[in-house]
Amino acid sequence: MEKIYMDNAATTRVTEPVLEAMLPYFCGTFGNPSSIHGFGREAKKALDNARAQVARAMNAEPAEIYFTGCGTESDNWAVRGAAYANIKKGKHLITSQIEHHALINTCGQLEKEGFEVTYLPVDEFGRVDMDALEKAIRPDTTLISVMTANNEVGTIQPIAEIGRIAHEHGVLFHTDAVQAIGSVKIDVKAMNIDMLSLSGHKFHAPKGVGALYVRKGVRLQRLIYGGEQERGQRAGTENMASIVGLGKAIELATENIDAHNAQVSAVRDRLIDRILAEIPYCRLNGHRTDRLPGNCNVSFQFIEGESMLLGLDMQGIAASTGSACASGSLDPSHVLLAMGLPHEIAHGSIRLSVNEENTLEQADKVVDALKQVVDRLRGLSPLYDDFLASQK
Ligand SMILES: *Cc1c(COP(=O)(O)O)cnc(C)c1O
Repeated sequence: MEKIYMDNAATTRVTEPVLEAMLPYFCGTFGNPSSIHGFGREAKKALDNARAQVARAMNAEPAEIYFTGCGTESDNWAVRGAAYANIKKGKHLITSQIEHHALINTCGQLEKEGFEVTYLPVDEFGRVDMDALEKAIRPDTTLISVMTANNEVGTIQPIAEIGRIAHEHGVLFHTDAVQAIGSVKIDVKAMNIDMLSLSGHKFHAPKGVGALYVRKGVRLQRLIYGGEQERGQRAGTENMASIVGLGKAIELATENIDAHNAQVSAVRDRLIDRILAEIPYCRLNGHRTDRLPGNCNVSFQFIEGESMLLGLDMQGIAASTGSACASGSLDPSHVLLAMGLPHEIAHGSIRLSVNEENTLEQADKVVDALKQVVDRLRGLSPLYDDFLASQK
């Protein structure tokens, strides 16, 4: 049985060119980049090179890039760091209702510490309401944080516009671009971005390495105290091999963005078009066009997302109900609820996330399998029985 992986929004595999770039930094070039001898200088050179690769991918300066332990750490640092660095100006932050838990739970903790947070509503497609954003800004607002693209439904936000509004009011703007890197073209200068989070494992670098862009002149309180690594802002000896992998992976992802997006969106559209045409009582979640090229999120009435995942898994197909971090909890997705879906529909949702390694043939196999699984589960569903009876 061919295994098909369509959960690339949860994580991606490390590709061969990325692994090859990393391998020398385990056994051969193992020096500590803080050391002044030759071993150290060699490592420092690789560290500088990776920083330049990340900077180039978003039109930033290398000195504006800080390596972190993951996307979650970058989000924590940006939000907490900005909140505390600007505490004299005020204690009000603005974010959206559909952020990743790395953001939502950081804001929740800040509320416990005495900050106030406004969670902006979204429309039925998952787009942040710009009027609500303008109205939410107060004299004591210090930070707006809105994700570039949503991990569950793929909706892309008008980031440049949000950045413009933030700057008109003298407020800092952070964006969680973890899902967007490699799919959405980012220019931190043109898009008025002050801070940007990214994570390696969403674009073929290893798990456990991320970065935070911090515009020159923006002050953050530090998250980790210790040595002078990352210009004294993020202490701890650098994860050299992973950082080298991150640099290589972001270069490959952004160099080939147009070709990848064309190929990925063709596979996604095959999924969406066939599912909507061939399976009754389902709906596409998110925006039809302002969405990530690889995201397909669909709700199926009368059945549960988890049961569909198990059915697909038995056929060797990996999908997700939305957010890997939320699986295991029975609460429906906070993103789908914020978009106005009723609980029972939100429960019947699955996400297929595609990258450039998936093919049209795989999309067809997945839709064929999904049709069987949905048929079988609806055959067992008392809700579907009741619905059919009510139609008579
Ligand atoms: C995956 C993800 C994160 C968390 O990144 P980690 O490196 O897994 O901690 C944060 N935000 C979004 C939107 C994500 O998709």
